[in-house]
Amino acid sequence: MLVDYNSLLLALGVSASCLAVTLVGNWFSRRPDTFLLTCSAGLAPLVGGIFIYGSYVDTPRPIFAILTFLLFFIGFSTIWVAGYQFRTRRFSKGRLLLGCLIGTAASAVPMLAGYDGLAFMGENVVIGVLLLLTAREYWLSRHEAPTPLYGITALYTLTAVSFALCAGVLIANGKLVLGHAPDNWAEDLSLAICIAGMTGIGALSLALHQWRQAALHRREAITDSLTGLLNRRALFDLYGHRSFGPSMAVIIFDIDRFKAINDQYGHAAGDLVLKLFGQELSVGLRSSDTVARLGGEEFALVLDNTLPGRAEQVAERVRDAFAARAITVDDKSMVCTVSAGVATGTVKGLGFDDVLRAADKALYEAKRNGRNRVEVAAYLHAV
Ligand code: GH3
Ligand code: MG
Ligand code: MG
Repeated sequence: MLVDYNSLLLALGVSASCLAVTLVGNWFSRRPDTFLLTCSAGLAPLVGGIFIYGSYVDTPRPIFAILTFLLFFIGFSTIWVAGYQFRTRRFSKGRLLLGCLIGTAASAVPMLAGYDGLAFMGENVVIGVLLLLTAREYWLSRHEAPTPLYGITALYTLTAVSFALCAGVLIANGKLVLGHAPDNWAEDLSLAICIAGMTGIGALSLALHQWRQAALHRREAITDSLTGLLNRRALFDLYGHRSFGPSMAVIIFDIDRFKAINDQYGHAAGDLVLKLFGQELSVGLRSSDTVARLGGEEFALVLDNTLPGRAEQVAERVRDAFAARAITVDDKSMVCTVSAGVATGTVKGLGFDDVLRAADKALYEAKRNGRNRVEVAAYLHAV
C-alpha cells in the first residue's frame, strides 16, 4: 500500500473536521437550516472516534474499540437525524436514540464479551444501514434541488456499500475473534471511499446551500410579503406574453374606501383586512386560476380555461362573501366591501395589458355606480 492505514485515518479525520467547519459556515448565512448544525454535530464524535480507532489499530485494547463504537454510533445516528431534519424540518430524538442503542448493542456488547470479530461485523452492518437511511432522506427530498441531492444520495449510498463490503469480508472469513483491528482490502477501500465521500458531500452541501438561497430569492421576488400571494411582477411573468382568448378572463378587485379603514382603525387593521381579503380570494380556486396582489388594496384574479360567465360569477361570489364577513379589530366589528371589474379575452386574442386595462375600466364603473358591485367590461356587452 502507498500510504499506511493510520495516515489514511488521519486524512479521514481531517476531511471530516473540514466538512464540519464548512457546514457551520453555511449555517451562519442561513440560520433556519438547522440540519447543517446537526450534521456538523454528528461529524464531531466521528472525528473523535476516528482518532481513537487509530489508537486501537496500534494497540488493540477493547476500551479503545468500545469508545470508537460509541462515538461512531452517536455520530452516524446524528447524521441520519440531520438528513431527516433536512427533509421534515423536525429533529428526531427517537431516531438518534434508536441508532445509538442498536449500534452499541451490535458492537460494544460482543466486544465486551471478547468476540471482537463479531463486534466489527455488527459495527459495519449497522453503520451501513444508518448511511442507507441517511441516503434515503436526501433521496426523498430530491425534488427540492435535484442535482446536489442526487449527488449526496449517491455518495451516502456508496459509503454504505463500502461498510457493507467490510461486513461481508469479515462474515465470509467467519472469525468471531480477531485479536486486532480488521485488516483487509475492504477496509482500505472503505477508508478511501469515506475520504472521497466526505469531500464530495462537503462540496455538494455548498451547492445545495446555494441552490436553496437562489430558490428563496426567486420566491421572494415574486411574492407579496404581506399576503403571501403572487405579486404584480409574477403575474406579468406568467401572463404578460399570453394572448387572451374568450376562455381567459381577468378580474380586478379593489377594496372600497380602504383609506377610511386605515384612518379610522389604523394601518395594522388595514393590513389585516388585506390579508383576510387575500384569503377570501384564494378560496375555492381551480389549479388553473391565479391570484395576485397588484399593489395597495388592488388584487387580480386570472381565470384560464373558463366558461363564459364564470368570471362574473366568481367575482360576485367573492364580493358577496367578503361583504358578509365581520372583521374584528380591537373588539370592534367592521364590515368591508369590495368592487370588481371583469374583462375577458376575445376571439382574435388580446394582450394581457389590454385585458387588464378593460377590467380596470369596468372597476372604475363599479366604483362610480356605488361600490360593492361587479361590472363587466363594456366591449363584452357589445359582442
Ligand atoms: P375607493 O373606494 O375609491 O377604492 O377608495 P379607497 O380609499 O379604497 O382608495 P384610495 O386609492 O384613495 O386609497 C387606498 C389606500 O390604501 C391608500 C393607502 O394608504 C392604502 N394602502 C396602500 N397599501 C397599503 C398597505 O399595504 N397597507 C395598508 N394598511 N394600507 C395601504
Ligand atoms: Mg385603489
Ligand atoms: Mg379602494
